[in-house]
Amino acid sequence: MRVGVLALQGAVREHLRAVKRLGHTGVEVRLPEQLEGLDAIILPGGESTAMRRLLDKVGLLLPLKEFVLSKLTLGTCAGAILLAKRIEPSLEAPVLGVLDVTIERNAYGSQLDSFTCRGDVAGLPDFPLVFIRAPRFAALGPNVSVLASCNGQIVGVRAGHTWALSFHPELTEDLRLHEMFLRPE
Ligand code: GLN
Repeated sequence: MRVGVLALQGAVREHLRAVKRLGHTGVEVRLPEQLEGLDAIILPGGESTAMRRLLDKVGLLLPLKEFVLSKLTLGTCAGAILLAKRIEPSLEAPVLGVLDVTIERNAYGSQLDSFTCRGDVAGLPDFPLVFIRAPRFAALGPNVSVLASCNGQIVGVRAGHTWALSFHPELTEDLRLHEMFLRPE
């Protein structure tokens, strides 16, 4: 598969590395024309406010929205924020606004800035979950299913071809989740 990684900012290299280790072609996406011919895209973690600004600046916002409406998409952390239809605090307008969830940015406060736990993710047992200034899935629309939970909180969701995680699978050596995401159905 040809798999794009949105490469404006954030944990781009780590996702590209996972994609390549699984035998796929990884493509950095910085411009609208780089979406052509891709089978899937990954929106990495980083800072969603910076990504919003850069998407607008390079004219990627609308072409990317069109792409993610029909193609396999994985958003991790800030990438999940880009996908959400509703962002809390509610002063923030949605960015791509394609996934029917309410997501709360920086929901774990300063004491829990970064933390890890292990849990079951989409049937994958004992998966390492790494959280960095993570958002929280506060509400899910009716067509959104839960992929993963940690300490009673929803940390991964899926609606059809759109996957969103509040943790960072790319920062571990565990490739099972990328493999499952990129497995042909
Ligand atoms: N706190 C960041 C944001 O609000 C997300 C953090 C991350 O991607 N690790 O965009």
